[in-house]
Parts: sequence; C-alpha cells; structure tokens
Amino acid sequence: GGIFERLRFAKGHLLAPQKILRAVNGVSLSIAPGEVMALVGESGCGKSTVAKTIARIYEPTSGEIRIDGEDVSHLAFKQMRPVRRKLQMIFQDPYASLDPRQRVKDIVIEPRRAQAEKGLSRKALEAEAVALLARVGLNAEQANRYPHQFSGGQRQRIGIARALSVRPKLIIADEPVSALDVSIQAQILNLMMDLRDEFGLSYLFVSHDLSVVHHIADRIGVMYLGFMVETATRDQLFNQPKHPYTRALLSAAPTVDRALRKPEIEIAGEVPSALRLPQGCCFRTRCPLAFDRCAAERPALLEQPDGSSVACHLHNQAA
Ligand code: SF4
Ligand code: MG
Repeated sequence: GGIFERLRFAKGHLLAPQKILRAVNGVSLSIAPGEVMALVGESGCGKSTVAKTIARIYEPTSGEIRIDGEDVSHLAFKQMRPVRRKLQMIFQDPYASLDPRQRVKDIVIEPRRAQAEKGLSRKALEAEAVALLARVGLNAEQANRYPHQFSGGQRQRIGIARALSVRPKLIIADEPVSALDVSIQAQILNLMMDLRDEFGLSYLFVSHDLSVVHHIADRIGVMYLGFMVETATRDQLFNQPKHPYTRALLSAAPTVDRALRKPEIEIAGEVPSALRLPQGCCFRTRCPLAFDRCAAERPALLEQPDGSSVACHLHNQAA
C-alpha cells in the first residue's frame, strides 16, 4: 500500500463566520488510498464543515484527524506544513481562490514555493507549472495569462493543477463542478478521475448533486443536520438505499436516472435549525416512518450485514 493509509475524523464543532453554530456530531470516516469518498446532503447538513475541518480550515474541538496514522488535529499552523503537502483542497469557485494579479504559472507553483524547497530554481518551478498545466489541458502560452482570461472550467483546471503541484495523497473537493455547465462538469470529473489513477490520489468529494456523485464515487456518506445517517458503496446506496432520508433524497433528485429513483419516500418541510436539534433521531421531524422510539432515543450508526452503515431504528439489527 501507499504511505497514505487512513484518514479518520471523529468530531468537530465550530463557530462559522456568521456566528451560527454549525456542529458535526460524531462523524467518523476513513478514506483508503485511491478511493473516492463522497459526502452528500442538503445545504447546511455539515458536509462542507467536515471537509474544511479535515483540511484544517476549521478547527476541530474534539476528536482526531489521522493522516498516514499521524494525528494532525492539534498541530499548530507551522507544523501543518508537511501535512498540507499530503492534502490539498479545491473549491466550488476557483476564481475566488486564484490571485487575480498573478500569472497562472505562478499560481500553480505557489504551494510548492510555500514548501520552501531550497535549491529549486525559479526556472525549474516554472517548467513544472507548465507541465502541470499541460496535464490539465492548458498550453504554455496560457500559462502566462491571468485568471480573468479563463472560463470557469479552465479556472477549475488551474485550481486542480495547483493542488497537484505538491503531489498530494488526498484532494478535498467541495462542490468543484456545481458552478459549471453540465457539459463542462463531465470534462472536469473525467479529468479528476484520470488524475486519480495517474497520481494515485484519493478524493473526498462534497456535493449536493446525486448524479455527480453517482458518476464518480466509490463510497458515499449521507449527512443530515450534522450527523452521518448512512454510509455505503455507490451501488448499495443507489440500488438499496436504507435510511429514510437517503431514500427521500433519491426520489427527489431530478437529475438522477428514473430507473435509479425509489419514489417511495417523500419529505416535507424545512431542515430544522442546527441550534434546536430534535430529541432522538435528527430526521424525526420530517420522517414519514417515525415511531415512538425515534423521539426517545438517537439511533447509532450501525453496521449492516452488507457492510453499509445506517443510523435508523428501523435498521437496528439488535432491535
Ligand atoms: Fe425515521 Fe425513526 Fe429511522 Fe429516524 S430512526 S429515520 S425517525 S424511522
Ligand atoms: Mg457547502
């Protein structure tokens, strides 16, 4: 196996900039080398929070984040340098993260420069940037241009090239294609999958779009109100969704193949405020299958005979 063995994330709380408490609760996940793990759920479910906490953009208050077996959750910013090399992030809006005053070739090697590798000439770094840009489909002439001269899809290619510059083990991608036209989405997703094989990457892929997730994910975690309610392989999740919320998501998704829809569960109403979590099951207030026990007891995420995990009393084998 590779150096990158497992990444675990147990629990994190944070104060978001809007001063709204967003919490994720007891979320635990691991990503194997070469694996694409997707997190899905409605906005506000905590999927971006999990991604940003793993990337250490947010600070976890408890739990641990292990990369290559090393607990990095309490490392200071400077100590994170070698870790950041293993873990890069790409964002929904690459433009916001590309310095408009820098040439694209300088943007691409910027994370390499932060590694402060002595003895590496500017010329060598530039050649590296041009090679990386070529790998994502941009030519040497384009390497001298500025971010505003590129389309949204091209900017995402630049963001990917920059992430690749430090040869990461894991790329955390938060809605990387949701701002792009559908035809461009497929190109970027295919590029990401090619790069996975070529560079031996793992991805943590955050998306609200089930058709995107169906296209790329090996495994999927479904989140609701800061809780992981189901984890399963792609095929298990789409063919045999178990949690009522997963089933509702699949039946409501307009972009998912009709054949894949399970139009058996419909949910009404809004996601409750994370500040007023329902007692018992987090999904209780919208679940058409709720029964007495759901209000009394929070269901644990339990492993099922097929290897998936579900947090629902209807799937509690011990019951
Ligand atoms: Fe619905 Fe109860 Fe299962 Fe929660 S535990 S998803 S309320 S049936
Ligand atoms: Mg988000």
